[in-house]
Amino acid sequence: MDPNNVFDVIVVGGGPTGSTAARYAKLNGIDRVLVIEENSSVGSPVQCAGLLSAAALRETDMEPDASFVLNSVKGADVYPPSGKRMRIIGKEIKAYVVSRKMFDRQLAAKAAETGAEYLLKAQAVGLEDTVLANGLKYKALKIRHEGALKTLYTKVIIAADGVRSRTAKSAGLKPCEKVLSGIQFEMNYKSNDSEFVEIFAGQEAPGFFAWSIPVSKTVSRIGLAVDPKRIQKDQTQNISACDYLNLLLLNPVIKEKINPGILDFVVGGIPIRVMEKTYAVGLMVVGDAAGQCKPISGGGVYTGAVAAKIAAKVAAEAIEKNDFSEKKMSEYEKRWKKEFGRELEIGTHAHDYRMKLTDKEMNELFDTLNDPEILDLIAKYGDMDRPSVLIQKLMLSKHSLKMAKLFGTFIKTLL
Ligand SMILES: Cc1cc2nc3c(=O)[nH]c(=O)nc-3n(C[C@H](O)[C@H](O)[C@H](O)COP(=O)(O)OP(=O)(O)OC[C@H]3O[C@@H](n4cnc5c(N)ncnc54)[C@H](O)[C@@H]3O)c2cc1C
Repeated sequence: MDPNNVFDVIVVGGGPTGSTAARYAKLNGIDRVLVIEENSSVGSPVQCAGLLSAAALRETDMEPDASFVLNSVKGADVYPPSGKRMRIIGKEIKAYVVSRKMFDRQLAAKAAETGAEYLLKAQAVGLEDTVLANGLKYKALKIRHEGALKTLYTKVIIAADGVRSRTAKSAGLKPCEKVLSGIQFEMNYKSNDSEFVEIFAGQEAPGFFAWSIPVSKTVSRIGLAVDPKRIQKDQTQNISACDYLNLLLLNPVIKEKINPGILDFVVGGIPIRVMEKTYAVGLMVVGDAAGQCKPISGGGVYTGAVAAKIAAKVAAEAIEKNDFSEKKMSEYEKRWKKEFGRELEIGTHAHDYRMKLTDKEMNELFDTLNDPEILDLIAKYGDMDRPSVLIQKLMLSKHSLKMAKLFGTFIKTLL
């Protein structure tokens, strides 16, 4: 084995999860850490609306500054199928609108500062048989780098290669069961209030929701995600996610504010179910690759960063003890599930519950929630990353009876 091709940890994928894993692997004292990224630059193409909670920034150790934060939002205007607006006004900044390109690059720069190495235009194409050298078992990772095939050797692989993770598949792990199709245009858009996102929870986006996220007073990201199976089932005339987005632009709330011309175009998948198993011998799967996106919002930067740090710690322990067994790697899954497994589970139930509601039921739900006291609770306790906090507060409030009636079947699925 050429020593130049031998590493302690190889992270596949230079997205926010991969760079966080690499940085924490170095901070945990691991010697040679390599990130391989198939694209020729970190952070592009972007596959994100760029709305990050304060917790997501904290978890990635990023201070919200002008180098990547473009705007901040305090609340949301939510439109149910009836079109009747429900305004949620937060008392403080609830989320930041960021340039994902700059955010991802800064995370990579921070990882490189700790000594992590980056190899761009390097695509992981599969795993080969384990190799024994100097009494140690190395995983052999086949990559295509600038057109040529070569093999790298490593003690641990952290698969952070996004929603269609080829690395997890090569390790024989079952992929996520449900992936939504996301699509977004960045457009000139005269926001009435650039501190509020707009959410459309009706037929604009079957299987999820549509949004407009203000980048500034004059530019917004207008997008949606749909469940491909739903639009297939509904379709009599081959309608795609892009067709739904074009229809959204005709929605009166949006139409009156847009100016023609698309400034940026984003497409990507959003995993809604976590993988059945997120580890194998000498390998851990993190972030979107593991399906760790939040099923209510589709956001995955926060959970990816939490999982990345746990994977880095387990990798360091494994290297110290020279134990790369399934049992050792399974500690990663136990720990991430302890941190946010329950939140993902509750989010999945909430997602499934919402998907079963008819437009009429959705309107009734919003009519009930559109009560000043309930909106106050939502504004105070609504947490993009931990929806269970709000559910608990609502159930313990004086509106508990109303809530039990509304969410009765949903609550039952949680017990
Ligand atoms: C339309 C849309 C809007 C979204 N909006 C938000 C939002 O507002 N807020 C939020 O938190 N999340 C949002 N998300 C989700 C968010 O983008 C992801 O959760 C996040 O990017 C996950 O980070 P990651 O590092 O796990 O994966 P990714 O960001 O997907 O990074 C994976 C990296 O691996 C690389 N790669 C893939 N395969 C290989 C390979 N074989 N070899 C080498 N490299 C490889 C890719 O090029 C990529 O750089 C959105 C997603 C979509 C599609």
